[in-house]
Amino acid sequence: MNKNNKLDLPFDFEEFLSSKLKTLKESGAYRKFINIQKDSATFPKFKFITDEGNEKNAINWCSNDYLGMSNRSTTIQAAMDSNQKHGTGSGGTRNISGSTIHHTRLERKLAKWHKKESALVFNSAYQANLTTLTTLGRHIPDLIFISDEENHASIIEGIRGHPNTKYIFRHNDMEHLQSILQNIPLHTPKIVVFESIYSISGTLAPVSKILELSKAFHALSYADEVHAVGMYGENGSGIINQENLCHQVDFINGTLSKAIGVFGGYVAASEKWIDFIRSFASGFIFTTSLPPAVCNAALSSINEIESSPALRISFFKNVNFLREQLVQSGIQFNGAETHITQIPIGSAIACKQIADHLLYRAGIYVQPINFPTVIMGNECLRITITPLHTFDQIYNLVYHLQGVLHHEVTLTGRGSMLSKVQLSKAQEKIKFHFPWISTKIICTLSRGDQLVDIPLHTQEGTDFFTKELELDLHTQKADIAIHSLKDMSTEHFLGEHLFAVIDRELVYDIVLFKNDILERIKQGKTLKIGTCSFRRELLGLEFLKTALPYLGIEIKLEAVPIRGNIDTRIEKLDTDQYDGIILAFAGINRMFASPDYQEYFKRLVENKKIMVLPKFECVPAPCQGAIVAEALPSNFKAQYIVQNINEEILFDECKNEKMVAGQYGSGCIQKFGVATFHFENFKAVYSKGIDQYGQPIDTWNNLPPYALDIDPELIINSSNLGFTSINTAIEPMHHLQKYKTVFVSHIAAVHASLINDLSTKNVWCAGSSTWQKLAAKGIWVSGCADSLGFEHLSGLFKTPFININPKDIVLLSNADSSKRWIDSGAASMATYQNKYHSNLLEKYKLKTAQLVFWTCYAHYDEVKELIAKDLLHACLPGKTFQLLRDRGHQPIIFPTIKAFNQWKKKYTQAHRVA
Ligand code: PLP
Repeated sequence: MNKNNKLDLPFDFEEFLSSKLKTLKESGAYRKFINIQKDSATFPKFKFITDEGNEKNAINWCSNDYLGMSNRSTTIQAAMDSNQKHGTGSGGTRNISGSTIHHTRLERKLAKWHKKESALVFNSAYQANLTTLTTLGRHIPDLIFISDEENHASIIEGIRGHPNTKYIFRHNDMEHLQSILQNIPLHTPKIVVFESIYSISGTLAPVSKILELSKAFHALSYADEVHAVGMYGENGSGIINQENLCHQVDFINGTLSKAIGVFGGYVAASEKWIDFIRSFASGFIFTTSLPPAVCNAALSSINEIESSPALRISFFKNVNFLREQLVQSGIQFNGAETHITQIPIGSAIACKQIADHLLYRAGIYVQPINFPTVIMGNECLRITITPLHTFDQIYNLVYHLQGVLHHEVTLTGRGSMLSKVQLSKAQEKIKFHFPWISTKIICTLSRGDQLVDIPLHTQEGTDFFTKELELDLHTQKADIAIHSLKDMSTEHFLGEHLFAVIDRELVYDIVLFKNDILERIKQGKTLKIGTCSFRRELLGLEFLKTALPYLGIEIKLEAVPIRGNIDTRIEKLDTDQYDGIILAFAGINRMFASPDYQEYFKRLVENKKIMVLPKFECVPAPCQGAIVAEALPSNFKAQYIVQNINEEILFDECKNEKMVAGQYGSGCIQKFGVATFHFENFKAVYSKGIDQYGQPIDTWNNLPPYALDIDPELIINSSNLGFTSINTAIEPMHHLQKYKTVFVSHIAAVHASLINDLSTKNVWCAGSSTWQKLAAKGIWVSGCADSLGFEHLSGLFKTPFININPKDIVLLSNADSSKRWIDSGAASMATYQNKYHSNLLEKYKLKTAQLVFWTCYAHYDEVKELIAKDLLHACLPGKTFQLLRDRGHQPIIFPTIKAFNQWKKKYTQAHRVA
């Protein structure tokens, strides 16, 4: 127990460390070091490794190797020669190991360079400052330190280590310095400590005035020239020499690690002062001296700097060029008097975020300067340049700086609920890439919104939903417009404005039906389907005729125009005007994903029956589901943001869809759909409908070239090999009731005995033909996998709108597939079994075949022993492809059987002509 009767617990070091580091991290001042691969051959370019382990390229804009001397072959050679000759280390303190020829030569050179009698080399300039100032303070009775408020940490540490009096004068404020000096008695020893160039703010000290005042008041003077040595003055030794003031100053501190490009620091002064420091300075006496090779390399570098003013000339040429570019771009900076360019930011967090953005997104490495290097509120980016940076690299730096130095951006949208959700998606994206930039939103009613009850194809013009937003950009009310890309004409999207595709939902058309739709079908009513799109009318209604359950009476459908926002359209379904409405899946799913509208939309669609239309049947509109951000080329800020929030893959996909669509017709009103399909190793675009001249379209674009050199006669479709399948029913296990959702992989999987059960389930199936067969049996199907395999639905099932838990799904399939599904962790019931028979003659044909298109994996399985080793395999995507690949084949994928047949026909024709 301690005196206070409190429990005497041990100090919790773990807790102390955690809390200290946590506070630092929260302040934004926590420092993380980049994993850098410095390369002398490529400087200032380098590679670095991200936290994720990826290698990236960048350009260094914050190196203190101002002249690039660390990469110079002469410097490297000098180090190598001495290392070879003298070994790597000095072997002890100067007291033990003495002064090698390289220590002596270097110190002599430094003294001469600074026009002082002597010099002493330390292991760094930090060490030189700390040690020299501490030694002076400790040994000169009552010495008073008078220090500039912006002095470096090594100076601050040097003057605060003992109880001497210290006065801090306002940065470069000579009146303040004078008033301090005036108030110290003449007999009291004092020393004025300053830097000739301040490394962070980039300011230059009024050196001559400081030295004049010091002399006048009998104070010693101590100048830190760390950021000046190598670059200023006739011989490159610094500002003091440039100003011809070497004889006026008592101490000059310099580094060998920055412009000189090697390592170490020094102090140059009179012989007596150097002798004093050498003799009394603990931080010099008791540390191992610099390796001889380091001294030799530093000497070589200084000699080269001194004799090559061209290096300094090209250095300042670059400094000036950077400044000119900054001025031209309206970028504020400090440090005009020196080579250091400091860009004020004023917030530690923003500073770090901007630096991270520049590094990871633009390959620009600049240092965020935070507390304690600067006082809070003075956070900045510090940029340094070298003679090795090119003008192009400088242009690129300034371009990115111009893009990131903003605090706010204004977005405009239509103001509908959907548009608000799109705007918040854009905000999210901007926040992710530019976390320091806040977004402001304005909303503008579009012509399309004003003509809310009029079918737009009856109106003149295009871009009904985007024109007014564009006007907001021209009148500078907003920087970026956010809207649906689908609403925009191809001409506009491919025009001169800048666009980003920032997000794209799954692309489907869906139909919402009244809950009593089955009753209405039974009554033989003509079902009124609300749509304002020719495409949906043509493709959607056509499919629906065969996709709605057949209940003993022909299904009659009629398209009835509907307009308005999604919620008003869904509400209209509750009137008797419509039995169903067709909507884009993207819009409704976005509403379900939005915390603001989710509940409202859940209520709206409650008690509705749903069908997700197959993409191959009701091909979606080009770029459906894509949100676009638009900027004018004249608005640089917007342009920069838009370029950065762009999802390149989505953008290319949408651009491609727009280009394909452009072949069939322009404007917003189109009677065809264009959609991208993703396959294992390529993506291709499918278009279907009627073009502007009334010609039918049923075309694939961007399919692989399938450039083969085979005899078209020897291309076989496995379905024509004489296989006959015999479905042998297996007793279905009676656990269907456990599952809410049933996936039917083939019509053979649905026994008559299962039909009743299926009417209570959410039924999905393999493709549109299975769908139609199920519908013919009176079963309501919610959607299908477009014959691309069950996995093709997994994305849709995960969406907030469809939201089907994999645990609630059972797959009805044949015995072989079912076993594979169960092995892969899915629930499956084998409700039939395939037995394939093929006749021998056909099998013989197979032996000579050069390419077989397998419509079913079981076909392959049946005859795999007969096929030639070099046979080319082709198939549909999905399971067949995967299984063939697992067997070591590399099948060519055709998206559909129709696509294969189309290709085969063309190939045969081309072959004949050839
Ligand atoms: N003095 C100033 C003004 C500095 O900026 C620095 C380093 O950043 C030093 C001294 C220390 O120099 P060195 O890196 O050689 O220890």
